Amino acid sequence: MEGGKPIGENVVAAVTKTLDKLYKEPLAQLEALINATGLPVYKDPKTGALLWVDVRELRLRFTLSVNKIAKFVEGLAEGKLFYTQCKRCGAKYFPPQADCPKCKSSDMEWREVTPEGELLTWTVINVKPASFSYHGDYVVGIVRMADGFNITAWVEADPKTLRPGMKMRLVVGRRPGENYITYWFRPQI
Ligand SMILES: [Zn+2]
Repeated sequence: MEGGKPIGENVVAAVTKTLDKLYKEPLAQLEALINATGLPVYKDPKTGALLWVDVRELRLRFTLSVNKIAKFVEGLAEGKLFYTQCKRCGAKYFPPQADCPKCKSSDMEWREVTPEGELLTWTVINVKPASFSYHGDYVVGIVRMADGFNITAWVEADPKTLRPGMKMRLVVGRRPGENYITYWFRPQI
């Protein structure tokens, strides 16, 4: 894995700091705009469309229980990706499921994902959610894994070089920007 340290508790503080820094400049511009015109409205430089910027800050913070999929989180910290397989009916799940939706069994086995697959399809994201706005355009792809299920994740590649069926390698590490451990694909060389 890349630059692996155990999952830290200061992730929230780091994200908050990054977002605060990121929005400092646009917020200052917004304030100047409101002072000058009395309205938080500006013209989109690309389309000329009038845009209203809501001045109320909306922050979402949520907590999800990962207790039943603790193995998945621990695996990420070790640079490994795990899926679950139902011991009763054999169904495989990624993201891992603690209970089998097919046969309702909770007798699941944790298995490490074989980090290879073939690119099925992909798209370039150029209109980004605010939390990813500091990234350049990025590629999201669906890869058919050697283990027989699909994984949707970012693809680190120039989209012009991508072809369906291309061999992909799964990477687990800290992605620049968020700095927390996640997984993505790279073309296999
Ligand atoms: Zn099952």
